[in-house]
Amino acid sequence: MKSFDIEDTITKLNQVSTKRAEVFIDHQISSLNDLLYYFPRKHLDRSNITKIKDVQPGNKYNIVGKVETCGEKKTRFKKIFQVIIADGTGILTLTWFNSSRFIKSLVKKKDQIAVHGKVEWYNGFSMSHPEFDVLDQNVNSLNTGAIIPIYPLTNEFKKVGIEQRLIRKCMKEIIEKVSSFDEILDDKVISSYNLLNIKDALSQLHFPENLDLLSNAYYRLKFDEHLILQIFLALIKLNIKNSRSKPFKDIGPYFSIIRDSLKFELTNAQKRVIAEIHGDMKKKYSMNRLLQGDVGSGKTIVAILSASLAVGNNSQVAIMAPTEILASQHFKSFKDELTQARITCCLLVGKMKKKDRLDVLSNIENGNISVVIGTHALIQEDVVFKELGLVIIDEQHRFGVEQRNKLTSKGSNPHLLSMTATPIPRTLSITYMGDMDLSIIDELPKNRIPVTTKIIEKSRLPKVYSFMKKQIDLGLQCMIVYPLVEESEKSDLAAAVEMYEKLKTSTFSKHQIGLVHGKMTPEEKKEVMQKFQKNKVKIIVSTTVIEVGIDVPNATVMLIEHAERFGLTQLHQLRGRVGRGKEKSYCILVNRGSNDLSLSRLEIMEKTNDGFKIADEDLILRGPGDYVGYQQSGFVKYKIANMISDGAIIRKARVLAAELIKKDPLLDNHHKLKERVLNDYKNNLNLVNLN
Ligand code: ADP
Ligand code: MG
Repeated sequence: MKSFDIEDTITKLNQVSTKRAEVFIDHQISSLNDLLYYFPRKHLDRSNITKIKDVQPGNKYNIVGKVETCGEKKTRFKKIFQVIIADGTGILTLTWFNSSRFIKSLVKKKDQIAVHGKVEWYNGFSMSHPEFDVLDQNVNSLNTGAIIPIYPLTNEFKKVGIEQRLIRKCMKEIIEKVSSFDEILDDKVISSYNLLNIKDALSQLHFPENLDLLSNAYYRLKFDEHLILQIFLALIKLNIKNSRSKPFKDIGPYFSIIRDSLKFELTNAQKRVIAEIHGDMKKKYSMNRLLQGDVGSGKTIVAILSASLAVGNNSQVAIMAPTEILASQHFKSFKDELTQARITCCLLVGKMKKKDRLDVLSNIENGNISVVIGTHALIQEDVVFKELGLVIIDEQHRFGVEQRNKLTSKGSNPHLLSMTATPIPRTLSITYMGDMDLSIIDELPKNRIPVTTKIIEKSRLPKVYSFMKKQIDLGLQCMIVYPLVEESEKSDLAAAVEMYEKLKTSTFSKHQIGLVHGKMTPEEKKEVMQKFQKNKVKIIVSTTVIEVGIDVPNATVMLIEHAERFGLTQLHQLRGRVGRGKEKSYCILVNRGSNDLSLSRLEIMEKTNDGFKIADEDLILRGPGDYVGYQQSGFVKYKIANMISDGAIIRKARVLAAELIKKDPLLDNHHKLKERVLNDYKNNLNLVNLN
């Protein structure tokens, strides 16, 4: 009976004709193993199904019933779609108000469907917009146990007769007939981590005997996914660490010159992270460190001092920032400090005069310039360094892995310091930062006065404007921010421009007011920003281009329009643009949202100034979004694992990954594991050394 190999093609299965196989292959399923890894979207627990006669309006239920009628209905106002189901104890009306066209194609008469939602009473029991799944014609068939897996099925599947029941039949046949499963873990690991073996895990996932076993199955399969990722990250780390030839042994002459000339005392946190960075640089493999510090925590001076260490060891330094404004600002800060120590530095951005650019390029190549600060322009091919020893990437989450690799490849395994003001929640940082060491500046400079945050309705704006005028009379400055201008949302730009024109001609007609937005050229932006930095412009109206890094200590009011449209982390970043000087600062959030949720979300901003707390809330409310470049570049391959809720599994997988790689860095004694890593990360193999 056990006649199948796990790698056999799916056409071996009784139910899979060539026509069905084609559809499977379109969904990246060609071998039996592929099909086994086609996981249910969810499981329906039959002990959790309520009979219609037992429901109480106002509560949520799972109900299974047969479709008696379905169709469109006209009400006084619009067309709705209604489905009536019966389960032998009563009937339930399901109503969709808008999405009728979509639903219509999914449900037909006599279908057996499972629905989930809140039951209400409108001339009978009803549910609006329930979650629903079409089940087999007869759920009581032999084929289903107490817990029913529900597979994701598109219309292409259904057209060739691939229904829930058919998938289950296929799974059954595979599990019965395959002689050996693709086990990637050793027996020892399986028992010491208390895992199901892979056969049991897959069988229980597709045919759960009970909820406990199902949850064990999930645990095992998630564990595998996290383990593969953690192994891959450990391999990246190893690859970087293996490679360096020239440690920075000395402090060199420049470090203390700069440190001693600072107008302030470094905070303890700054001192600690500088020691961590220097500790890395002394070693014979490259540093790969992420410096995380809330806005205003003083990362720039840490970068400057790190650069001085590299230059003190006869190396060049490249600093890359995501925008031209930010690069120019860094250039100014770096230049102020570096020139005291007679370290040469220059700025390299996209728009430069040809002659200037060639000049700069040749000075970088012959080593006359030690420190280069720039934008993406740095990763162009014609930028050649003589001896690049340290790469610093500011706002690293704005760059992808590829971009940072392009820059580091301009040296022979230079040290890498990435910086971010986005406080990455702990769970995420261990998932994504597996390949980096982490330094955190968890202390703001002492003289800082906390920013006061206030949410207002638009009717209070005139009061805020007169408050701003008073601040300006005191010699201080203000910023007004609008949500990001997307190509598809031209109206936002219009709104910002319109507001600017209006304020300029009415409320602030006697004040210098400037406008910055994403559609301006870098020069235009720079001109306005420079005027603002010199206090020639008193109020700046902007779209979110000022989000990152701008340092104008004299600005004390940050007014954010449509605050409800921003993520909390982003609001926190914006708020960090003020409160940088000696004066008390204010952040005013104009809430134009209409629901309670947006208000209670914004209230978190009033309550705390702690970036970590805000990041955690944001993660819960909005999901991981775009925290790290890895995800943008499709780096993480999760099917069922979850980086937010699987913290405990991730920690275990990480420990195991480190042990494995330490003993077997090429995974030569773990063939199955190696195969899986090579397969899952086939597009990123340039980052590791796995020959
Ligand atoms: P961020 O971490 O957001 O990049 P910056 O490096 O721009 O912050 O620093 C914000 C401001 O704080 C700058 O004006 C900087 O000169 C100042 N600063 C940095 N470190 C200290 C310190 N230890 N004491 C006082 N001011 C500091
Ligand atoms: Mg900064």
